[in-house]
Amino acid sequence: LVVNQLDSMLRKVTRPARYSGGEWNSVAKDWAAVEARVALIYPDAYEVGMSNFGLSILYELLNQSPDVLAERAYAPWVDMEAELRSADIPLFSLESKRPLKEFDIIGFSLGYELTYTNVLNMLDLAQIPLLASERTDSHPLVIAGGSCTLNPEPMSDFMDLLVIGEGEEVILELIEVFRRWKKEGTGKKEELLRELCHIRGIYVPSLYQVNYHSDGTIASIGPTIPDASATIERRFVSPLPPPVTHPVVPYIEVIHDRAAVEIQRGCTRGCRFCQAGTIYRPLRERSHDEVVEAVDELIKNCGYEEVSLLSLSTSDYSGIERLVATLSQRWKGKYLTISLPSLRFDTFSVALADSIQGRKKGGLTFAPEAGTERLRRVINKSVSDDDLLQTMTTALERGWRSIKLYFMLGLPTESLEDVAAIVELVGRIRQLGSKARAPRIKVSAATFIPKPHTSLQWLAQNITEELGPKHQILKRGLRRLGADFSWQDPQMSLIEGVLTRGDRRLGPVIHRAWQLGAAFDAWSEHFNYERWQRAFDEMGLDPHFYAHRERPLDELLPWSHIDCGVRMDFLRQEYQRTKSGQETPDCRYGPCTMCGLERWEQGCRRKSQGLGPGY
Ligand code: SF4
Repeated sequence: LVVNQLDSMLRKVTRPARYSGGEWNSVAKDWAAVEARVALIYPDAYEVGMSNFGLSILYELLNQSPDVLAERAYAPWVDMEAELRSADIPLFSLESKRPLKEFDIIGFSLGYELTYTNVLNMLDLAQIPLLASERTDSHPLVIAGGSCTLNPEPMSDFMDLLVIGEGEEVILELIEVFRRWKKEGTGKKEELLRELCHIRGIYVPSLYQVNYHSDGTIASIGPTIPDASATIERRFVSPLPPPVTHPVVPYIEVIHDRAAVEIQRGCTRGCRFCQAGTIYRPLRERSHDEVVEAVDELIKNCGYEEVSLLSLSTSDYSGIERLVATLSQRWKGKYLTISLPSLRFDTFSVALADSIQGRKKGGLTFAPEAGTERLRRVINKSVSDDDLLQTMTTALERGWRSIKLYFMLGLPTESLEDVAAIVELVGRIRQLGSKARAPRIKVSAATFIPKPHTSLQWLAQNITEELGPKHQILKRGLRRLGADFSWQDPQMSLIEGVLTRGDRRLGPVIHRAWQLGAAFDAWSEHFNYERWQRAFDEMGLDPHFYAHRERPLDELLPWSHIDCGVRMDFLRQEYQRTKSGQETPDCRYGPCTMCGLERWEQGCRRKSQGLGPGY
């Protein structure tokens, strides 16, 4: 791309810094001096993609290798897309401005199903055939990773391969094979894919066949060549590799505009709806000293004034109080704010947030998920109303004035009374504060969408008609209380639900929806349900079959060939316990429940080494 072409395009679009590159810590290597060139892509707007932690890990890791170059690309916003198409300029990377089609490997991060049409759009803008079967040996290898690949089937038509699980080790092994193939191979992609399918955690969909029963359920999934494995094991790294300390610092505001240190990966709480709780097991913690050093390095390299201690459940990190105390002391008076995402709903967490020196009392965020104790027990996120109110009392006494609460609608066994209880609970919280000053309460209600590899994966998702009255109860009740309320569009939830538990017959539906104009589906102003409905109709598929059908426990699921580490028997047992409202204790503090990680070679350190709580 010539500089003056880009210059004239950027004058016509909003937020041109999305495309200009050259950010602090971005890496521009000599194209000719490396053996493998990788484009790392997040299929959403720059502001969303730059906040993706997984891609920044891979960017730093790959660029540390002298023989490899990694550059970035994000989905161009609609105005930029129009400019690219009218000038017939293929989509390019931010660093070298080279067309993506010139890279050896193009890696998409799939973290949200409603970005799938953006993947197709970006391939099209890059002038790369969308279907893996239509790409030739001279096209880049198109791969994907991220949490969505734990059900790889809906995107299998478009990908040469998908990485199942954590990418840090797999990507290096993949590049090693790729380099060897480039030097010594026949140049045939088929040969490369046959070799890559032997790497643990790599799934090559074209080497597998899916057969269906006449009722549309799956009869079998299996490899078509003898040396491909019948199941693909999720990869994970243990111990955690060194933290990211040179992240790219954007010139414009992005969603998570702060430094971040991942203090632990994995969670043992066992909330039954939570996919992250199964697909990131086992729990792995970074040491106190490693985190402290990483914060020092990050601030030195980026100049951020805020650092987030990333984890699925920050309050559960062993020694969190000591860590926060060390960081607060170390950075006292130096304008560094520490933020603690994903706090447990208890007074300990409030005290923890309060202990951060110099922190302005902004907002506290908690996720009770359900309005009643009964329903919280069902989903294994048990916290009593009394504890919940005590936590809120402590927060208000300590001066927090803004509270954000996350709930889900459509949970198993949920009744309208459970939904009305959310309003009641918010009312009681408001009353706690009214003695001094009423707290500002924001309530957010997402739709419960059963996710693959969770113990609720067999359940039916609520239909739009079920969600409507629930939204009404909350809208009316919360307005009366003066609380802000936001909710997830039921039609967007439906498409997300279909794509998350779909099979490979959805490839043509995604393709058709994109042809009809679907893109940026995660953005409500761009989402258009009619396009999707038409695509389903034309392909002769019913979205309700995927989203609204309870599956028998012995049905072969589209992701049955993906071994995520947590045993299917364990998930079935948890499903039965959901139905009977029985809780399962957190194995970090209680006994090991033999979830399946214990059988893995690298598996769960707690089980294999007999370590006690807080290992
Ligand atoms: S193997 Fe046992 S201790 Fe480890 S995560 Fe699973 S249930 Fe918990």
